[in-house]
Amino acid sequence: MKAVMMPEYNVLELREIPVPEYGPDEVLVRIRATGICGSDVHGLDGSTGRRIPPLVMGHEASGTIEAVGVNVAGYLPGDHVTFDSTIYCGTCRACRNGDVNFCENRQVLGVACDEYSRQGTFAEFAALPSHILYKIPLGLSFAEAAMIEPLSVAVHAVSITPVALADTALVIGAGVIGLMTLQVLLHAGCSRVIVVDIDPRRLKKAEQMGAWRTVDSRHADPEDAISRMNGSKGADVSFDAVGLADTVRSSINALRRGGTATIIGNLTPEVGLPLQMVVSRQLRIQGSNASSGEYPACIRMMESGQIDVKSLISRVAPLEEADRWFRELASGGGDLWKVILDPTGGSV
Ligand SMILES: [Zn+2]
Ligand SMILES: [Zn+2]
Repeated sequence: MKAVMMPEYNVLELREIPVPEYGPDEVLVRIRATGICGSDVHGLDGSTGRRIPPLVMGHEASGTIEAVGVNVAGYLPGDHVTFDSTIYCGTCRACRNGDVNFCENRQVLGVACDEYSRQGTFAEFAALPSHILYKIPLGLSFAEAAMIEPLSVAVHAVSITPVALADTALVIGAGVIGLMTLQVLLHAGCSRVIVVDIDPRRLKKAEQMGAWRTVDSRHADPEDAISRMNGSKGADVSFDAVGLADTVRSSINALRRGGTATIIGNLTPEVGLPLQMVVSRQLRIQGSNASSGEYPACIRMMESGQIDVKSLISRVAPLEEADRWFRELASGGGDLWKVILDPTGGSV
């Protein structure tokens, strides 16, 4: 089968590799759409340590079932499916508590780190345990279904944050995850969502998606701007979809007393902490990792039209163009949102 292989850092090659074998509890999925994630783009140069070559990356995908293992019930060849990017065991203590993102035996598709290497979805086929699958309604295209994984990241971040009706929320970073978080916050009842970014095209998109105000942090200090906009009260909750020293500091300093900062992005592994602010204002700071059981909610919100993922799909390109689109995304192309690869080469 065709696959996009990363044989060494900064190199992507289309290669012919064997179709993966599937076990008795697994299915073989023919990939029809697979999104390029920011974590793949940042993984390519080795800076994250989470994509150790050789590796086939890719963890946001959908497709049709090609074949099912002997123990698999409930799925048949031809079914349209998407799947969790986390392969969880289902039996450890965390999994039994419903926290599958904390699974002690967790592997992430398309990730290779010191503990494991798991082939991903930038390929014609993937072998996957059936318990991580979700059927997708016929009303959703394969490309839209490949957006369920990143949407679940935004839904998870909002669901672990104490959001109340009419709250003021701050979202830092208007990329795909930030814009999805904005939309989810509006549905969760926030009446004022302020979005911060350094790219005017991204801020314009945030306004189109319902942001109350936007702040271009190249020209204005986000903390000042927010206290001016919100009558110096500060935001009730904040979400950092970037994860740099400046964005983490802003997401903390912009909060009201007792507010919560949820950190989704982690571009920098370590940042400083405005400790006095955190303690004297009794702020809560938490990380948000992947998702745990939010897929059905994402599918319902997309099916009902509550969440717009279509306008975040910039391109659907054949697998052969992977290298080109990785480079376009790495150069930070402003209004280039999600690029989805289609291993079948046709339109999705
Ligand atoms: Zn991703
Ligand atoms: Zn587990």
